[in-house]
Amino acid sequence: MTKKYRYLFGPVPSRRFGRSLGVDLTPYKTCSLDCVFCQLGRTRHKTVVRREYVPTAAVLAELEEWLKSDGRADYITLSGSGEPTLHSRFGEVLEFIRKNSTIPGALLTNGTLLNLLEVQDAASHASVVKTALSAWDQGTYNWFNRPYPKLRFDDLVEGQKDFRAQFKGQLWLEVFLINGMNTMVPDVQKIAALAKEIGPDRIHLNTAIRPPAEDFVAADFVAALPKERMEPLTRLFCPPAEIIGEYHSAYTTETRATQAMILSLLQRRPCSARQIAEIYGMHGNDVSKYLGKLMRSRKIKAERRNASLYYSALKVEG
Ligand code: SF4
Repeated sequence: MTKKYRYLFGPVPSRRFGRSLGVDLTPYKTCSLDCVFCQLGRTRHKTVVRREYVPTAAVLAELEEWLKSDGRADYITLSGSGEPTLHSRFGEVLEFIRKNSTIPGALLTNGTLLNLLEVQDAASHASVVKTALSAWDQGTYNWFNRPYPKLRFDDLVEGQKDFRAQFKGQLWLEVFLINGMNTMVPDVQKIAALAKEIGPDRIHLNTAIRPPAEDFVAADFVAALPKERMEPLTRLFCPPAEIIGEYHSAYTTETRATQAMILSLLQRRPCSARQIAEIYGMHGNDVSKYLGKLMRSRKIKAERRNASLYYSALKVEG
């Protein structure tokens, strides 16, 4: 991407979606949950109110322009600064992608609103819907995901089951494991039993590889779950779960990022210098130069995580 879009970002390498163009439908960070492991930091606007948070016409105009001028990605994903199903017209964006491109549209949702029929109908326009489940009852839901007060754990599970019953596309379920919080075998078995009831096509086990919202999640006793401890847990799920590993892109693009593009990316997800270099096909020295400027102007911060230095935006524009 050679110009700065307001609602599109990337394409970025995704651990599940390859080269993925992001479409951001909410202001930073508007979500129905405030997960302790969230890589975007704490939720600023916790809500279940569905409205047109960003103008749909402007999003579609950017997509049309991007499809004409670049148009290369493995997926176009509704994701970014918050929960996309809070946008009252997200279904129209998915419908536009389906009608105007051969690139599959993906919806990354926390699943909290899937108990609403209108959200199920809108989500049905996606080729892939990725939902999430990391708790097994209301107490653990409150602890890990810190939902908007009126949200019930039973509705989260029932909504996903209802959606599965009518959705013809691929349903993927992410289980986020936080070492010391939801990683004991009996607890994972409870999550696996609920996952089986939902019936996704694929199940992904993820852990806190990038910096999470809360420092205590990164503390020694609840650090990212090592791969050798995740492997036996994959077999508790049906179908067996896959472990999401760090993505190493073999893709090289001639696109070179501007400082504004790197800042826009870091406003949506923390990245290491190596990941930024992979995303934009840049030399590490050039990435370091931009990161240095952004650090000096106090627009980004750096945090060490799992032996890598991750950068994220300090202040969010717009
Ligand atoms: S991880 Fe996803 S669902 Fe949880 S707070 Fe962050 S954006 Fe919201």
